[in-house]
Amino acid sequence: MRSERLNVPVGVSGQFSAEISLQLFHRMSRVRYFEAGIVDAINKKELSYPVYLSSGPEALAAAPSLLLEDCQIFAQHRAHDLYLCIGGSPERLRDELLGRESGTSQGRAGSNCLQYHGNGINMYGHHGLIGENVPQGVGAALGNKKQTLCVFGDGSAEEDYLPPSLGFAATHKLPILFVCVDNDLSILTPTEVRRNWSIRAVAESFGLPAVDLADDPWALLQAGQGLIGQQPALLNCRVCRSYWHVGAGDDGAPEWDRLQLVRNELKALGLESQAAETEIMAQHEMEIVWDRKLLLKR
Ligand SMILES: [Mg+2]
Repeated sequence: MRSERLNVPVGVSGQFSAEISLQLFHRMSRVRYFEAGIVDAINKKELSYPVYLSSGPEALAAAPSLLLEDCQIFAQHRAHDLYLCIGGSPERLRDELLGRESGTSQGRAGSNCLQYHGNGINMYGHHGLIGENVPQGVGAALGNKKQTLCVFGDGSAEEDYLPPSLGFAATHKLPILFVCVDNDLSILTPTEVRRNWSIRAVAESFGLPAVDLADDPWALLQAGQGLIGQQPALLNCRVCRSYWHVGAGDDGAPEWDRLQLVRNELKALGLESQAAETEIMAQHEMEIVWDRKLLLKR
């Protein structure tokens, strides 16, 4: 059944070039296959501590990565996708996850505190207190006035320090794109039993332009282009994860699989063969990274 949460504008993909469409798909595919390597490592007991997988919502990393260059990023605890999409080294991330000295934090931070500074990346690590990366990002933007991306989840939106951060950014007209990764769950509790308000309405009450839409990458690009010119601004994006909150388990097939939906859309755009080549390229890259055959869960 097609979820109401999945609704997106019709025909947006046709407004972008084939090159952009394939770039989006390539970035999404790289994340999905990289994390297939993590899942395999977990299943083989090579990785035995909590990991926060990004598979499912990859479009929400791929689209902003095409829009924001030279950006300081304050990510949440689930950030493999963002790191890879902004040009982070998959080998370095693999090594971090495996506890190696050659990892992004010398193997001492792991999955949920992903950070890296160098090679054009300026990504601050999450320290575990949910949503606190948002006021930190606001403070950084106040100090240095750099383009900033703050990412948080729909559960984090309920932390008492988060809404005032949006208001402070609005007061000081800071160059921040706030992104809420909205999977309608705080771990396992649906939004409707947690609150009767939306983060979009909160942002708009402070005067921030805000958009609420599902994770269609073309729609995200279109919406993001509009919001970036009016910062600070909020993008609330409805997503569906492939795996549990923590780890590689699942509760059955996800409500939707955005990667598959994008494959279908690329076929409709006449880009089926190019998309297949693009996906194989991403698969081969990550098979070399993990030194194993990688297959996606279908
Ligand atoms: Mg959530």
